[in-house]
Amino acid sequence: MNEVRPQLDELLFSSVEGVSVESVKVTGTIVRVEARTTAMRAACPGCGCWSGRIHGSYLRIPRDLPAAGKFVVVSLRVRRFVCAEDSCPRKTFAEQVAGLTRRFGRRTERLRSALVSVGLALAGRAGARMTDVFGSPVSRNTLLRLITSLPDPPIATPRVVGVDEYAQRKGRIYGTVLVDVETRRPIDLLPDREADTLAAWLAERPGIEIVCRDRAPFYAEGATRGAPQALQVADRWHLWHNLGEAAEKCVYRHRGCLRPVPAPPDEPQEQEEAEPTASSPWPTGHRFAERTRAKHATIHALLTAGHSKRSAARQLGMTLNTILRFSRATTPEELFTGQWQSRATKLDAYKPYLDQRWQEGCTNAWKLWEEIKEQGYPDGYGNVRNYVSRSLRGKPQPVGPRPPSARAVTRW
Ligand SMILES: [Zn+2]
Repeated sequence: MNEVRPQLDELLFSSVEGVSVESVKVTGTIVRVEARTTAMRAACPGCGCWSGRIHGSYLRIPRDLPAAGKFVVVSLRVRRFVCAEDSCPRKTFAEQVAGLTRRFGRRTERLRSALVSVGLALAGRAGARMTDVFGSPVSRNTLLRLITSLPDPPIATPRVVGVDEYAQRKGRIYGTVLVDVETRRPIDLLPDREADTLAAWLAERPGIEIVCRDRAPFYAEGATRGAPQALQVADRWHLWHNLGEAAEKCVYRHRGCLRPVPAPPDEPQEQEEAEPTASSPWPTGHRFAERTRAKHATIHALLTAGHSKRSAARQLGMTLNTILRFSRATTPEELFTGQWQSRATKLDAYKPYLDQRWQEGCTNAWKLWEEIKEQGYPDGYGNVRNYVSRSLRGKPQPVGPRPPSARAVTRW
């Protein structure tokens, strides 16, 4: 036994000094390790003085990492020392084994760091499932607690700091996020977007050379006061965004100047979609209308080819009544029973204008609605949207190519 013990110390607590393994018992799924501390002295956590006066001893049973698929239960006898310093408020203190225990810790340090790694990689729910797999089950809340108790990683003062807002609670609360632009990592969150808060944060970090921000006045003021030494620049996203908006406004104002691109002369001009009979009340391009046309053509083709109406019904998966109704109509337009005839609406007076704007290339229903609203159209957006999607979208394209839309020009 005596020859085995040093090897067990080495095996079980190789990275830990001052622990001696007394016995190891394996029963079923449990490895029971009895160990004790061996250091002669310990440092008081209150005053730092070393003491060798033992007050008493007690057992600690920290959970450990499993070994060879078995739970490991460590019974560690630790001692309580009497502090040698009279003025120290702690009269006694318990010893801790560096790398094995910590104050109030219920796990060995190696189990703790394994759980922390799992928590950092997988967070609560998935992490908890994973700890089940490797035999040290803990709840997701425990994992999250372990992570939140980690000390924050030290952050060097950034040279270039990005300032932007972030939203909480679906945009009801705004805070400020600070990003190290060079490492692209967020550094800090401020609870609001006040100039004072930002100024205070910047003032604590005099090494900042560039503040990258949007054009909100509170950030401008905060940066000027908090980091007067720093150069302030507008961040790229906002520059692009503002440029885009300004360009679109400008292009839109001059949309009348946009001319359609003439088609190359050798290419035959794209003919309009086959226009239905001029008298047709059916809108082209309407999905239902197109479907009915197709159905009509299919049914008549089958009947002309000599199939019976019953057989056509079976083949097409339609009722006999449908086949009869379609077969009676020599043209699909005859099936039209009035549902396409639009009732007179307040929109009618504006339809010529809408058609004209559509031809000019304005395909944005909202914009169209806003335009006719200015002209006195009293109703809501819905009717305009329906008209655009039902009638205008179905309309054959304007003869010849359309002028490019304001949005397309802006994108160029
Ligand atoms: Zn002390």
